[in-house]
Amino acid sequence: MSYLTHLECSYCNNKFESNKLWNLCPFCSKPLLARYDLDSIKQSFSKEEIILSEPNLWRYKELLPVQDSRFVLSLGEGFTPLIKANRLGNAVGFDSLFIKDEGLNPTTSFKARGLSVAVSRAFELGVKEISIPSAGNAAGAMSAYAALAGIKSFVFMPKDVPAAFISECRALGAEVTLIDGLITDCGKEAAKAVKKYNRFDMSTLKEPYRIEGKKTMGYELAEHMNWDLPDVIIYPTGGGTGLIGMWKAFEEMENLGWISSRRPRMVTVQAEGCAPMVKAFEEETEFAEPWQDAKTVADGLRVPAAVGDFLILRVLRESYGTAIAVTDEEMLNASNLIGKTEGLFASPETGATLAAFNKLKQQHWINDSDNVVLFNTGSGHKYSHLWQTN
Ligand SMILES: *Cc1c(COP(=O)(O)O)cnc(C)c1O
Repeated sequence: MSYLTHLECSYCNNKFESNKLWNLCPFCSKPLLARYDLDSIKQSFSKEEIILSEPNLWRYKELLPVQDSRFVLSLGEGFTPLIKANRLGNAVGFDSLFIKDEGLNPTTSFKARGLSVAVSRAFELGVKEISIPSAGNAAGAMSAYAALAGIKSFVFMPKDVPAAFISECRALGAEVTLIDGLITDCGKEAAKAVKKYNRFDMSTLKEPYRIEGKKTMGYELAEHMNWDLPDVIIYPTGGGTGLIGMWKAFEEMENLGWISSRRPRMVTVQAEGCAPMVKAFEEETEFAEPWQDAKTVADGLRVPAAVGDFLILRVLRESYGTAIAVTDEEMLNASNLIGKTEGLFASPETGATLAAFNKLKQQHWINDSDNVVLFNTGSGHKYSHLWQTN
């Protein structure tokens, strides 16, 4: 089923065999990316055949790393709707606004995509215990797929994450360790335990396959837009797997002859209280400096340092995109507007995409003729404390 051939370092371009477990590149400690035999895929089937496949992300299994379908762990993730947001469009004075509703995924966020694929592949390669530092949604998603496989999961979360994130992991059978600090501090604690107990590390971009799950958002966008792409994609960026993943999908699809060379302008939105990518983009540096005192109610954006920083910045520059920061208040107001116009209970990260849209439209960076896609990366349900008035 899979046409995976090898792994390649995203920075030093060294190649590695794909049938064993890898974390970061052993030479330069940067993320490894999965490579496929695209020529054979091109010869053996057409994009039209995909239309008949199952309505979840495994419809693109030839372009995913799992070799044997017995190891696929699925709760129905992916193939989420692309909603034409007419009422929201009216409210903000714009014609062609779409929302990709990732809140419908298992565990209510798009983290399910990455972790369905990454945990499946780890399962296939014989992993028995997995570990993740997470600001919230990634941990829940990992716990769910680990439960399906009978793999033991260990979660490290900041102790101030909303209770719903912690409860979810516990209910799904994970062992939760709460850390007095940020996701980066959780990463350090998790890394110690990984070494000590020989667990497999599922940190963002520290293994090659979460990004493969996330890239399916790019395939779906093209499929839902009849093998075309929007003009602008606005993405709330923490570790950046979705942004990097979609960009990878676009390149693969062009090589497969499925889409043209036209690309969307990719927009990173971050919180004003934690905007390392925005700063690095503005200062035109290759890497981002870690953000001090990261603060935002959008837990998925509370990521002061990203292993894939240079990949995020590359995508923004190659796509003629941009990076922009919004306040927590702007996010929540925007979530409310999405709620009352489109009937979606949107997380603050999702609100951030609309807040960014408003600013970019005002700056005429977005034009009336553009097709714009916002990502509802997660449902608001795990953040319901933000809407409690007493
Ligand atoms: C994790 C997360 C993000 C950030 O996604 P990345 O791909 O890590 O940049 C955005 N929104 C929500 C709801 C998340 O859980």
